[in-house]
Amino acid sequence: MDAISFLFGVVVTTSIGLFVYLKDRKRLTNRTWGALCLGVGWWYFGRYMRLTSVSETDALFWCRFLYIGAIFIPPLFLHFSLSLLGIKKRKVVVTAYLLSFIFFISNFTDLFIKNITLKNSLYYPIPGILYPFYVIFFIGCVVLSSFELVKAYMKATGYNRNQIKYVFLASIIGFFSGITTFPLVFNIKIPPIGAPFVSLYTIIVAYAIVKYRLMDIDIIIKKGATYTFLVLFLLIPSLVLVMLGQMFFFGFISYLFSFIVLILFGLATFIFPRLKPGAEKTIEQILFRGKYDYKKTLNDLSKALISILDKETLLAKIINTITEAMGVKKASILLLDEEKGYYVIQSSIQVAKVNEESSRLVRDDPFIIWLREKGEIIVKEELEGDLGRLNIPAMVTIIKRLNDMESEVCIPLITRQKLIGLWNIGKKMNGDMFSHEDIDLLEALGNQAAVAIENAQLYDGLKKSEAQMRRADRLAALGTLTAGLAHEIRNPLVAIKTFIQLLPERFDDIEFRDHFLKITSGEVDRISSLVNELLEFARPSEPHFQEENINEIAEKMIILIMSETKKKNIKVNIKYGEEMPPIMIDKEQIKQVLLNLFLNAIEATSENGIIIFETALINKSDPTDYIQMKIRDTGKGIPKDDIEHIFTPFFTTKHQGSGLGLSISHKIVEDHMGYIEVESAVGNGSTFYVYLPLTPFRNDISDRINLPVVNKTREEYEKDIGCR
Ligand code: ADP
Repeated sequence: MDAISFLFGVVVTTSIGLFVYLKDRKRLTNRTWGALCLGVGWWYFGRYMRLTSVSETDALFWCRFLYIGAIFIPPLFLHFSLSLLGIKKRKVVVTAYLLSFIFFISNFTDLFIKNITLKNSLYYPIPGILYPFYVIFFIGCVVLSSFELVKAYMKATGYNRNQIKYVFLASIIGFFSGITTFPLVFNIKIPPIGAPFVSLYTIIVAYAIVKYRLMDIDIIIKKGATYTFLVLFLLIPSLVLVMLGQMFFFGFISYLFSFIVLILFGLATFIFPRLKPGAEKTIEQILFRGKYDYKKTLNDLSKALISILDKETLLAKIINTITEAMGVKKASILLLDEEKGYYVIQSSIQVAKVNEESSRLVRDDPFIIWLREKGEIIVKEELEGDLGRLNIPAMVTIIKRLNDMESEVCIPLITRQKLIGLWNIGKKMNGDMFSHEDIDLLEALGNQAAVAIENAQLYDGLKKSEAQMRRADRLAALGTLTAGLAHEIRNPLVAIKTFIQLLPERFDDIEFRDHFLKITSGEVDRISSLVNELLEFARPSEPHFQEENINEIAEKMIILIMSETKKKNIKVNIKYGEEMPPIMIDKEQIKQVLLNLFLNAIEATSENGIIIFETALINKSDPTDYIQMKIRDTGKGIPKDDIEHIFTPFFTTKHQGSGLGLSISHKIVEDHMGYIEVESAVGNGSTFYVYLPLTPFRNDISDRINLPVVNKTREEYEKDIGCR
């Protein structure tokens, strides 16, 4: 038994030491640990040889041999401990090595080991003069190392603390095991029972390495342990069986045959797991093509979930992929409507609305409460099977809800411990059951889908608040205009009223009547178009791209701002570009841009100033022409430091400004794949240029409109022209 444990010690300690050393040859901890293991291995080997020695001469030789390893264990242990703790005590370490070296030299003389003797039919050394000093030295090094370890342990925290704890505990085992080899040498009747346990020391430190990542040998230890386990519980029993079998069938045991069978067993054990995945994949590909594809589809879906932000598209993608991949006909997703407090179907395939309850579930519905508590995927079939056993009073309602929703499998969509929705999957078309694999995959996808849906909802919220900001900006602009516009409307009304009052008296005056008609109808048209324009501008509108004439749009806006320019007696010089081609834009949004720019220009310009408005077609040809709108004012201009901030939301220099106008205009123009440029000098006024591309760019906008698009992306184009 001793012999086996010694040999085991040789193999374990030297291989661990060697591996650690090779892993990071430059690191002192790895080097000292490697050398220490080698020392222990050497000592084990010597002990094995001494144990199996047949003559005294041999035994003395191996005894001295084993002490070569043992002599260097104390300084190596000290050195390893100090380097692990990052403590530099050069003098102490050098002294320890020097002392070991003295013992090493004396080991070739009688000073260290005088001779050998038999005790309990085992060979033991008779100590020389220096031997007791070696024992003291051994204990001294261990005490010093332990002292440093404990000291460092008290100071260390978290990860380091654990690491030191394990190394320290392992060292104690190593020390007490090792020290049991001494008493018998001095005729104290304590047998060296601890010797085999020294390798335990290296194993425990190795365990600490696995668990606390001390030196990166996790993998080898784990594999080593697995293989040892396999050898012990699989290979050895098999070998015994093979031997017994030979005895039984042939009456004798052939060791060569047994050895070959053992090798074959070994090969099969180790090759099998390597071949298994490949074989499985190949067979699945050949025999179960559909199933293999379906796994791949699910993989793809989880990738797609990360990239889709639009809620509708996302839900449709989740439902479609799963129904197709799993061969399911019906599926639905219900999401929580926070305001209304119920879960409602947001997306579905083939799910009929049996009644109101099938498409909506209140927050405190027994089914929802149960699902929230359970927080796991539900398979109706399993639930029905457990119906009698579970004895949950709400179970009948729960099954009814599942039936109403035509749900065979219901996956709760949970993020941050909140049930944001449920995902129902109907029966498989081929009548198959949902396998374990299906459920596992759905469970994993359910988690991802929940996160993706929550993100999409957050994104929706962002879009909504952006839309609200835009609307606030429009209303603010209208607010600025209303006082002036009221005036614009009242003036012609006064004229009309006067005419009407005079009419009965001068009804027969044909000239008066003609004049009256001309004036009033003109004024009424003007008022009506003003009010229309105002209403249209104020009404929230969905994005709507269509071909428009930019000059016509500008003209309408200029009518709206005329009341403001009149107030300050500002002259507006307009120059419309000739033969302007129609352009694909969202009219209402571009009006908002123009109104913002005009109002800013009017505000900046002092009384009697001038505002110039021009439109033009700019030939940039490659890849597209642009329409340019130029709004120039003769106002105060923008200081240099402010220019880079004016498009930032909420940046304003005005007393009651919102700071939204330019940022929103910028966003709108960007949505049209265009851009805005500014030139301004304090005291000299500002010029804003708005550029809108005649042909939108590929993949920027092509999903929103049906127009031929430029076959370049904006990035490519910007790279071509050198970014503005
Ligand atoms: P607001 O008009 O509510 O302040 P904007 O985003 O429209 O918000 O404008 C931001 C800032 O840019 C203004 O406060 C102003 O300082 C500056 N600015 C914009 N247009 C002009 C202009 N034509 N002349 C001078 N300054 C301007």
